[in-house]
This record gives sequence, C-alpha cells and structure tokens, in this order.
Amino acid sequence: MPALDVDDLYRAILLDHYRNPRRRGRLTGEGVVSADGANPLCGDQLTVDVRLDDRDHLVEVAFEGAGCSISQASASLMMEYVAGRSAGRARAGVDAFQEMMTSGAAPEDFGDLEALAGVAKFPVRIKCASLGWKTLEQALLAAGRGDARSADRVTTDERSSGDD
Ligand code: ZN
Repeated sequence: MPALDVDDLYRAILLDHYRNPRRRGRLTGEGVVSADGANPLCGDQLTVDVRLDDRDHLVEVAFEGAGCSISQASASLMMEYVAGRSAGRARAGVDAFQEMMTSGAAPEDFGDLEALAGVAKFPVRIKCASLGWKTLEQALLAAGRGDARSADRVTTDERSSGDD
C-alpha cells in the first residue's frame, strides 16, 4: 500500500480550491477585459476578468461564477497559474490544459493543476474543467483586439458550437 494516495491528494487540492477559491471576484477600472462562459450541460457559469500591462502581462486576473466543484476548482487553479504571466504564456497554458484533457498527463510546470489530469477519463467532466480556460482564452482574444468590453459568450457545450 503506497504511503501517499495520489487520488486522495488530488481530491484534497480540488476541494480546497472549490471551498477557498483564489482570486475570486471582479476587477474594475480602466483596461479590464471580461468574458463570460457557460457549460449548460452541468449548469456551470464563469466570468473571467483580466487586466494586461503594456508588456502584455496579466497583472490582474479574477473570476466569479457558480457551478460544480470541478469547474470552480479548475478556474481557481488556473488563476494561480496565469497570474503575472504573459498573455502568450497564458494562451500556451490553455493549449496545454486541453492537451492534458486529451492525454490525461500533466505538463511539468502545471503544479497543482495536475490534480485535474484524471478528469480526462470522464468526458462529461472535461467540459466542466475546461470552462475557465475557454473563458480566459476568450478574454485574451478580446484584450488582443484592444477592446475593453465584454467578449462574446463562450460555451463548452458542444451541442451549441459547430466545432469538432
Ligand atoms: Zn460542471
């Protein structure tokens, strides 16, 4: 019997982020770009706010939302991962997260986000786990346009998107 049960450790990380979400709230003021996301299959909803500095770094990030523990914990873990990073690195993180949802293997620099790697085995929950990242991606796209207003609403419910 292993000394440390990895599944229990991962569950504890997710529960902690669900109960004590990091960077929860809304940003206000000049230069804040927001995006809304929803996963109608599960009822998850998120709003992601970002503020980029003139070097394209995410100096402030925040999220607000409601939904299942996976969606909210993933958004909280994502906030910790992207805060202070460049927009390019954050976008690469979105791609790396999607890759993890396919492969079930976490990239080396993912830290506690590794706790979500097991979601790859549960296709229905992938939409929950991906919601924050898709919403962040939308906010970054909106920020790239220099357009400080709400971005188009995104959804991780494939029934309402033409992709795949
Ligand atoms: Zn969910």
